[in-house]
Parts: sequence; C-alpha cells; structure tokens
Amino acid sequence: PRSKLPDVGTTIFSVIGQLSAQHNAINLSQGAPNFPCDPLLVESVSRAMREGHNQYASMLGLPALREVLAEKVLGLYGRDYDAGSEVLITGSASQGLYMAIAGLVHAGDEVIFFEPAFDSYAPVVRLQGATPIALKLQQPDFAINWDEVRAAITPRTRMIIINTPHNPSAQVLSDADLAQLAALTRHTDIVVLSDEVYEHILFDGRRHCGMATHAELAERSVVVSSFGKTFHVTGWRVGYCLAPAALMEEVVKVHQFMMFSADTPMQVGFAEYLRNPHTWLSLGEFYQRKRDLLAQALGDSPFRLLPSAGSFFMLASYGHFSDESDSEMVKRLIVDHGVATIPLSAFYTDGTDNRLIRLSFAKDDATLLLGAQALCQVL
Ligand code: GLN
Repeated sequence: PRSKLPDVGTTIFSVIGQLSAQHNAINLSQGAPNFPCDPLLVESVSRAMREGHNQYASMLGLPALREVLAEKVLGLYGRDYDAGSEVLITGSASQGLYMAIAGLVHAGDEVIFFEPAFDSYAPVVRLQGATPIALKLQQPDFAINWDEVRAAITPRTRMIIINTPHNPSAQVLSDADLAQLAALTRHTDIVVLSDEVYEHILFDGRRHCGMATHAELAERSVVVSSFGKTFHVTGWRVGYCLAPAALMEEVVKVHQFMMFSADTPMQVGFAEYLRNPHTWLSLGEFYQRKRDLLAQALGDSPFRLLPSAGSFFMLASYGHFSDESDSEMVKRLIVDHGVATIPLSAFYTDGTDNRLIRLSFAKDDATLLLGAQALCQVL
C-alpha cells in the first residue's frame, strides 16, 4: 500500500520489549509496573462481570465513574467539570490523545509539541494532514523555552501539546509555565492538549500544575489522563479526557465512531474503587522511594543520573565514558549485561542523540536492585 507514515517503524516500546524478552533481560524499559495492583480493584471488576455488567456502557462512559472523576478533579484542582458533558471515558490515554487530535486538528494546521516527546504525538498529527512543529526542551533541565514557543506560533497553529509530569525527561511544569502558556494562547483559537497521565506521581513535595488548576487554561484545554499509571493496571486500557463542553463535543464525535463506549466492567470497578482516595494520594511517596532506591543502587555505576521530579522515569547519561550512540548502548546493555532501557533518541523525530538512556522505576524492589547491579558492570 501507499504508506501514510512511510518513515515510521514499530514503536520503541515494542522493539525493546521484544529484545529484552529474547535476552531474558531485567526490564527497566517500558513504563509499566511489574508488581500487582490492589486485589480489591480486581475484585471490584470481577464482581462487575459476575453481576452482569457486560454490555455497552453509555457512550461518554459510565455515569457513576464520570461523576466520581468530576468530584476528584474538583477536590484536587478546583475545576468543576460537568460529568454529563465534560468528562469522557476512553480506551486508554493513548486513545484519548488520538481522538483529541483527530477531532480538533484540521488538515494544514500546525501543532506545536516539545521533544523529547512520547512517540505517538507527531505521527497522529501527521495522520490528520497537519504539520507537527517540534520544539526542543532545553538541556539540562528540559524546560520549555517560551520565547521559542512565541516565535513558533503562526496563524495556522491549532494546538499545543503539553505533558506534565513529562515522559521521558521526568520534569514538571510550574505555575510560571502555565502563566506563560496562558499568555501565549490568550485571544487565539489554539487548543492545549495536556497529557497528564503521571499527575499523581510528583516528588519532593511538588504539586501537580495541570491545566485544571488554571481557570483560564482549563477553558481551552483537553486534559488526558489514565487509570493504568495511577492504579498499576497499564494493561486494562482505560483512560479519560476532561474538556469544556464545546471542545469535548468534537472529541466525542470521533470517540463515538472509534469505540462508542469504553469497557463496562472496568468502569464499574473503577467507579467503586475511586470512592477511596488513599491509593493516588500516596502514589508520589510510593514512587519517590523507588526512585531513591534505584538512584542509590546506581551510586557506584559509571552513569550520571539526571534529577527526576515526577513520573516513574529517570534519565542517565554516559557520554563521559562512551562514544556509542544511545541505541548501541541500549542494545549492548540488553545483550551483554541483561538489562533493558530506552534510548532517548527514540523520543526525537530527528533522532537527536544526547547520549542518554531512560530507566523506568515502576518495578518491584528486587528488579530495581538487579537492574542497577547490571548497570554497574557496564565498564
Ligand atoms: N508510556 C509508556 C512508556 O513510555 C509506554 C506506553 C506504550 O508502550 N505505548 O514507557
């Protein structure tokens, strides 16, 4: 066929996952927990199935789940989304991102995003016949250069994609960033698409600066989040979008033909489980301990660790001891040392290689220690 994405290969997460399995490596690559979720959540979902919640949910999602989410967001961030028209349950956050872009971006539009970036943004923009405009986050702190954003905005700019906490850099936006974003998009028809799937994973006392915390930005934002990251169930594929009704209407037009409604028993289970906030409120502490455990275990390794402020990722640099490309380094680590990571170049459309690898610490402690041990032996 005449490919619509001729230069796009298989996503790095599958490629490395396979290579890692082939070599039986300790897998610190994909951001997916290798430990179980709360058995109470499994019980809620199983019970939902047994009790016969096995047919289509309503199109926007189970009303009870939309209501509990609207309450949660109001309590945490102060924005009152209408559960009837401004909350949408999706089949994964990835799908929510896709539907928001497909519903709101026209052919010929430009979409600004920041690299390194999650690998779906640019291809999905291109599938709409639109142009992704990649701006590079500044090293070493991966901050957004707002002057560059101002210069990149044109009359064709339709969307800016934000991600905080950020995958893969593990940095987070501040209130000052939100103020800049608000000023740049004021009196424009630019939509902010905000990927906030790590919203509950911030460290060292930081507070999540999502779009729902900013009254003005919330008016022009689609926020995408996920249950998988928050409840250790990345395989369940349930996420959600929040947006003012006028924006949501366009996202829903895509959603109704893409999947119509998300998985019913999962939604029943989450609606019940979300009544108890204890899990997400302690998630930052939970992962901060893992971050520190991994960092400490890597103390004797030749890698230099970059600070991680949120998400369950950490970057490590090696340019001071090796000239290998990051892909070569990652391959060697898997094949010779039995530990899998992700090369940062996979998050750049132009393949920029800063001699950095991404480690995921969404792993049980034993795996983190074994992974660190293997990384210590790289020299
Ligand atoms: N978000 C996860 C990561 O960055 C993986 C998502 C995926 O595999 N599609 O590791």
